[in-house]
Amino acid sequence: MEKKQSNKTALRENKGVSKQKTTSKEAISNLKKNRQKILSTDELLKGILQRNTAALSRSITLIESQNEAHKSKASTLIEKSLEHTKPSIRIGITGVPGVGKSTFIEALGTYLTKLGSRVAVLAVDPSSSLTKGSVLGDKTRMYSLVNNPNAFIRPSAAGNTLGGVARRTRETISLCEAAAYDVILIETVGVGQSETAVHNMVDFFLLLKLPGAGDELQGIKRGIIELADAIVINKADGNTVKSAKLAQQEFKRALHLYPLRYSNWTPKVLLCSALENKGIENCWKLIQDYIKQVKKEGYFIKKRQEQSILCLKQALENQLKEQFFNTPLMHKELETQTRLIKLNKRSPFAAAEHLINVYKTCS
Ligand code: GDP
Repeated sequence: MEKKQSNKTALRENKGVSKQKTTSKEAISNLKKNRQKILSTDELLKGILQRNTAALSRSITLIESQNEAHKSKASTLIEKSLEHTKPSIRIGITGVPGVGKSTFIEALGTYLTKLGSRVAVLAVDPSSSLTKGSVLGDKTRMYSLVNNPNAFIRPSAAGNTLGGVARRTRETISLCEAAAYDVILIETVGVGQSETAVHNMVDFFLLLKLPGAGDELQGIKRGIIELADAIVINKADGNTVKSAKLAQQEFKRALHLYPLRYSNWTPKVLLCSALENKGIENCWKLIQDYIKQVKKEGYFIKKRQEQSILCLKQALENQLKEQFFNTPLMHKELETQTRLIKLNKRSPFAAAEHLINVYKTCS
């Protein structure tokens, strides 16, 4: 007679159970097929217009691709999406690492979604391809926003040139506007030219600062004050409230020294604690005041148009340069001219003129 097997032994084998439908071969192959299905630009656009975040993410991935076929598909998609873009407010947020950008975006984004807005968070950080996107737009630091159905977070576009990253971010903004995101927050870090690039693509530019001692203004780049529509002193909580208020006074005084802007807007200085969710409402109110003012004066649309024209000129410059330097004949010619300049047989200007003439005849 067979000995009854004990239930406790690890060697006991259960009787096989029938496979559930969801794990059948057929279901798995369907799943794979769907996942790998290449969507046409019309299908992607349809998904975007239906506010489908998977379609939006896939479209952004297409924009970021270096593959030539993808590039042309992405360009068609952008063109098609333009007529569907909905009104939005684009806000740039900058500040040194550790100032609290992610915490601030998390607080502002959550506040806005509670008001019924849909919020997209993008980032511009050309160095993030080296640091694998850990500096900015890091989803893991925006715990509640990342799970919020009315928020869409996309880390910085890959690429090691600022021009490339900025272009992809601009195109991503268009897609987010077609997907009807009301507020687009673009985060950048206070290094290099990234701030200028972001300033050139947003309606409102916000500089986050830390409460500091009396030398607050010394470490700040003059250029950045000129770009900022508001300076928000974060971490105004606990022991730092007093120094935050001092910094606020100093910035207010300093801002008076700058000439009035074309937009007639005088930059404001606010205090906030992103961590404790204090002052966020005021920041939003300020942004709304600004938007109301510049819309009334016709500056809102004018600024967007100027930004697009500037973008056109920069794109043109980049493409012309790229074409010039990628022409094999120009490599040779450039070498010859370089040699002549070194031998003092030709001036750099004459060499440039000669090179342009050669390029014109060969292109
Ligand atoms: P980022 O590098 O500019 O994105 O800064 P993070 O948002 O990652 O914040 C850096 C650190 O500052 C984190 O430990 C945050 O918890 C902390 N932090 C951010 N905002 C505040 C604030 O308002 N008050 C205080 N006390 N700490 C904050």
